[in-house]
Amino acid sequence: MKRIAVLGSGTAGLHLSYALVSRGPFEVTVYTDRSPEEVRSGRVSSTQVHFGAARAREAAYGMPAWEQGPDLESIHVTVGGQKLFTGRLERPAKSVDQRAYFARCMEDLEAKGVSFVYGRVDEERLQELAPAYDLLVDCSGKRGPLAPFPQLEELSPVPAPQRKCSVGYFHGVAPLEPSGVSISILPGAGELFEIPALTAQGPVTILFIEAVPGGPLDAFGGIKTAESFRDRIRAVVDSHFPAVAARLDGERFGLCDERGFVQIAVQPSVHRPYCTVGGTLVLGCGDSVVLNDPITGQGCNTASYCAEQLVLTLAEELGRPWDEQTGEAYWRRIRDHVTEVTTWTNAMMGPLPDHAVGLLMAGAGDPSTADRIAGWFADPRTAYDDLFRAAAGT
Ligand SMILES: Cc1cc2nc3c(=O)[nH]c(=O)nc-3n(C[C@H](O)[C@H](O)[C@H](O)COP(=O)(O)OP(=O)(O)OC[C@H]3O[C@@H](n4cnc5c(N)ncnc54)[C@H](O)[C@@H]3O)c2cc1C
Repeated sequence: MKRIAVLGSGTAGLHLSYALVSRGPFEVTVYTDRSPEEVRSGRVSSTQVHFGAARAREAAYGMPAWEQGPDLESIHVTVGGQKLFTGRLERPAKSVDQRAYFARCMEDLEAKGVSFVYGRVDEERLQELAPAYDLLVDCSGKRGPLAPFPQLEELSPVPAPQRKCSVGYFHGVAPLEPSGVSISILPGAGELFEIPALTAQGPVTILFIEAVPGGPLDAFGGIKTAESFRDRIRAVVDSHFPAVAARLDGERFGLCDERGFVQIAVQPSVHRPYCTVGGTLVLGCGDSVVLNDPITGQGCNTASYCAEQLVLTLAEELGRPWDEQTGEAYWRRIRDHVTEVTTWTNAMMGPLPDHAVGLLMAGAGDPSTADRIAGWFADPRTAYDDLFRAAAGT
């Protein structure tokens, strides 16, 4: 039986492990640096909206289902304080706090016979592990990559983080109807996302500010405590997003727990997702090799997509030793998708091109255009088609 080591147990490592278990026979060992308990009691790190395709994979692999919590049925778009439209998603999306989601999946996988080894993996440990496996998969996320994958310059054109991200999980935000992700764009300053989500403490609304560095939303420097984070986000929302401020309940408005907030800036970077270490093939999956700014909410969905394609590649190559040819076959499968997601995401951080503005304005008067734009998030290929292929006349 082929032996596979999965390094990391975030979205990529977990979707991959479930896919491997459901497609077997593979002997899977997960090496990761945090136990389920540490994950559960840790800090939030994402807004983790999983769209229809990722959710369908979760169901197909038998991953834990999350019946409770809000279904996200739509995308609300506001530009410069003017509500443009609400587009319907074909299939509901969902956001479940990764602390609860990851911890439960790790325990469930362990119960299904997947071995977990806890501790940090570094270059030396990678060298030690390589000879014992037919394949290592680097799912170490944005702290990675652990393996020496070459960076792809053509897909890594952004020289520095384009946004400062401030995320808090709040009680006391009255939801919009129909339930969905709300995007308020302040051209030149950044964006506010509102995302109804499920946590161990019950439903919350995530407020997520993407601030252009140095602009008026870049107001979170020096924040250390949950209380000061809450006060600062309240002040920013009051000043710049009055329609959202009107839905905050002054009494109840507060973080769901002390670790329910995070600040981060992402340096986008894409690596070719294969190399060898000590003669063993190492593949990359998730943020370790495809790291984009969260503005389009694609990281988990891309990690899930790549995990599926990785397992399909292995299934095709089952009868031969896994080597760089296997790595190239995996990269061929995911390259178009990675290119489309990355190009779209990087473009969303600059001034919107005229035809993109035109489409958003058209969405205001035409429900089918509004639905099509909502669909960009569920299927980024359509965003690429509308914004780049159509604009280039291809
Ligand atoms: C603010 C923000 C909002 C976001 N919102 C969305 C969204 O709405 N939708 C969406 O699809 N994506 C979103 N993303 C992106 C998404 O969270 C990530 O793309 C996704 O979680 C990546 O999964 P991953 O498994 O690659 O990495 P992670 O989920 O980060 O997992 C990495 C794993 O590797 C482990 N690890 C790391 N280093 C080591 C080491 N040296 N040794 C051992 N273990 C190690 C970690 O403990 C963890 O288990 C958002 C990101 C941010 C920052």
